[in-house]
Amino acid sequence: MPVSAKIGIGANLGDARDTVLQAIQRLVQFPQTTLTKQSSLYQTAPLDAGGDDYVNAVVEIQTELNALTLLHKLQELELAFGRERPYRNAPRTLDLDLLLYGSQEINTDSLIVPHPRMTERAFVLLPLLQIDPLVDIPGLGAAQKFAAAVTEQVIQKIA
Ligand code: ADP
Ligand code: MG
Repeated sequence: MPVSAKIGIGANLGDARDTVLQAIQRLVQFPQTTLTKQSSLYQTAPLDAGGDDYVNAVVEIQTELNALTLLHKLQELELAFGRERPYRNAPRTLDLDLLLYGSQEINTDSLIVPHPRMTERAFVLLPLLQIDPLVDIPGLGAAQKFAAAVTEQVIQKIA
């Protein structure tokens, strides 16, 4: 049975908008995976990272890949877009986060789901709520209730 997963996408180097759109096209080519929802693109000021504004989006996929395999495919894709990580929170060509994987809670060295910082980030919460207003974050409850706490973060819908 396929599992519904939400992926957060962010970019802030080069043509960030184009990078996000290309990344979505590559995601839909993962084996045993289909794209079911795609948010608008959002432009956000960097939160605790340097560099230009980010472009962010969230997509929903249905996938037969297990969570760890999916994470590895996302990391491959980050590398394919030339991500380098010289220091923590360095600007990145492409950042792909596994936000939600069905209703599962996962806690391993390499993978934590729900993504531990997703409730603090307007650039995750707003596109997530756009595609799934009633979405539940396993262990934490309705995503909607976290949105009020991030209203000071500057975020703008661009497309
Ligand atoms: P951020 O969490 O701000 O996107 P990074 O992308 O730099 O930070 O973090 C990447 C690291 O986080 C990887 O080593 C990866 O194994 C780990 N990680 C743990 N849980 C997740 C998840 N749900 N999605 C993506 N990466 C995760
Ligand atoms: Mg990441």
